[in-house]
Amino acid sequence: MHNSDSQNTSLDYIEVFPWNKSFETGIEEVDEQHKMLIVLINKLVNTLVHNEELAVKEAFAELAAYADYHFAAEEKVWAEHLQDDEWVSAHRKNHTSFLPQVLEIKERDADKPLHDVIEDIVRFLIRWLAFHIIDDDKRLAIAIHAMEQGASIAEAKHLAEEEMNDSVSLLIDIVLNMYDSLSSRTLNLMRERRARIVAETELREANRKLEALSITDQLTGLYNRRHFEEVFDRERKRAQRSGSHLIVLLFDIDYFKRLNDRYGHAQGDHALRQISAELQVLCRRGSDFAFRVGGEEFVVLSSATDEHSVYDLAEHIRTGLAALKIDNIDSDIAEYLTISLGGVSCVPTQKDDLDHLMGVADQRLYMAKSRGRNCAVIDDQGDPVN
Ligand code: GH3
Ligand code: MG
Ligand code: MG
Repeated sequence: MHNSDSQNTSLDYIEVFPWNKSFETGIEEVDEQHKMLIVLINKLVNTLVHNEELAVKEAFAELAAYADYHFAAEEKVWAEHLQDDEWVSAHRKNHTSFLPQVLEIKERDADKPLHDVIEDIVRFLIRWLAFHIIDDDKRLAIAIHAMEQGASIAEAKHLAEEEMNDSVSLLIDIVLNMYDSLSSRTLNLMRERRARIVAETELREANRKLEALSITDQLTGLYNRRHFEEVFDRERKRAQRSGSHLIVLLFDIDYFKRLNDRYGHAQGDHALRQISAELQVLCRRGSDFAFRVGGEEFVVLSSATDEHSVYDLAEHIRTGLAALKIDNIDSDIAEYLTISLGGVSCVPTQKDDLDHLMGVADQRLYMAKSRGRNCAVIDDQGDPVN
């Protein structure tokens, strides 16, 4: 029955109402049940703070069922010893009013902000528990104890009254004040913590967006030049470590100015987006990265185990983008949009930094342009591939 441990370890769970030794009546069965009541009350308060309607209903139902069980068991214990003494009937009456009072607060507070409802219910529960356990139950326990020692009911009650003197009501006051401030402080902390969790989640999300924005190109959604530099460093180191080939393919759209001039700048933008979307499809391997590094210039970064892969990748991209058949009737070499590529593939050494490899790729791109466009140059012989 005691599942408080598992609940208490949850990050979001707060014990609003901790158990206190002064609640002990000395009757084991009753004390165990009181502990469970407190567990369920804590659970209810937690569901209220989280404002999950179903969980609140469940927690109420669970508390109601357990309270019923506890009250019946406790009344039996008291009745066994004190029979139908007025103390027992008063105690029973007190029990009967417990849940209706909680529900009444909830209904009465229906229009109030959730915070207030919770605080009202918590305040009630704390008072009720304090009076129920410290006052009623302890008084009854003292009487029973005395009867077990041979006292009559009247003597036992008298003794209990004497023991439950001013110092006990003082104790009740102290405990009540303590729990009042403890619980409202705890509730505030809980609310603050939840607010902080929400704020942190939003902040993280905003940071993530900002981060994404800073590495992507607005128009096409591809990674931008800045990110290219970061990924290049990372991939170059990786290739160096593993002895694999690093591939850098630089390409530029052929006669793109004519596309803009013929169809308008907006259509040019549209073509750039189409190219970029298809490029992402063509670079779907985990080791392929596509970047927009200039107006109509792109880079594909990849890795391979041999030097021949660069041919295949260059052709894969050139033919893949040509297959989009984006109209460019003013192009000198085709009626649709084409690209020219300059590529380099190497197991990087110290000299193969970004500037060096991009310089090589750029020279080869220039060669591809001068050799008729819609082709790739990926070695120093300059033999175009197409
Ligand atoms: P080449 O085959 O030699 O590369 O010819 P080209 O016309 O593609 O080359 P050029 O460098 O003369 O023209 C590039 C054009 O790309 C000019 C520029 O307006 C256009 N451009 C660059 N960035 C953008 C952009 O973001 N949107 C649009 N619509 N056009 C752009
Ligand atoms: Mg250009
Ligand atoms: Mg161009």
